[in-house]
Amino acid sequence: MTTQFLQCLLPGVNLLRLEHEEIDTDQHHLTVNVSSTQTLAQCPLRANPTTRIHSRYQRTLANLPCVNYSLTLVMQVCKFFCDNSGCIRRICTEWIPEVTKPWARKTQRLGQKLQIIGLALGGAAGARLCPQIGIVACGSTLLNHLKQLSLPEFAVPKILGVDDFAFCKGQRYGTILVDLELNQPIALLADRKVETLTNWLIQHPGVEILSRDRSKTHKSAMDKGAPAAIQVADRFHLVQNLEETLEKVLSSVNELKAVELADVWTCRT
Ligand SMILES: [Zn+2]
Repeated sequence: MTTQFLQCLLPGVNLLRLEHEEIDTDQHHLTVNVSSTQTLAQCPLRANPTTRIHSRYQRTLANLPCVNYSLTLVMQVCKFFCDNSGCIRRICTEWIPEVTKPWARKTQRLGQKLQIIGLALGGAAGARLCPQIGIVACGSTLLNHLKQLSLPEFAVPKILGVDDFAFCKGQRYGTILVDLELNQPIALLADRKVETLTNWLIQHPGVEILSRDRSKTHKSAMDKGAPAAIQVADRFHLVQNLEETLEKVLSSVNELKAVELADVWTCRT
């Protein structure tokens, strides 16, 4: 029963055979030894199948925890001879992509969980959560797994918001593009230069309305990259400009007058 239960929990259930398991009740750790059931492999260079086994070796993979036990998968896999005489690789190792990637030290299912945690919480907060749910991962590990995700596809939006964002506040800025109908960021440009935004707009035709702040840089890029699009000032920057103007007006009069004007403004709003 225990063997059947563990076999069902294995990643790639038909590709791995359970050999034996070890339980460390002091450390709350479970080690599951498995072997591959594949009888042929494909050389990655020539993609021709081969069945001649050269040798066997072990891969040690961190897996998802089982209840409150951390779990290590010790996987026995094969090296095969490549029988293609024209191939420079004489020996190829067995890959089981359903279980793990070549050279990886984690199972695919653990990697996917780390990506989900990283997407929800980012590196630092995700790293604080991981030990609470039995996973060993630091912030940089979570971020590395996020970098492996491919960027989502997007349609060119009809209404596009353009603004600055900071890679490092006060030092380095880029340009963020947002689909304002979906409230979804769709691109981050590496800088705030006119040419960069112009090129993006030329390469992604179809934007009908462009929302921007009142900087000349964005205006110039939009004039060149999407001359047919309507440009509007976004609400945030209009309110921000109004606030800055009011501050200047109020600070230019004497203190008493400023207080009176502020009271009047407060009453009107
Ligand atoms: Zn080969």
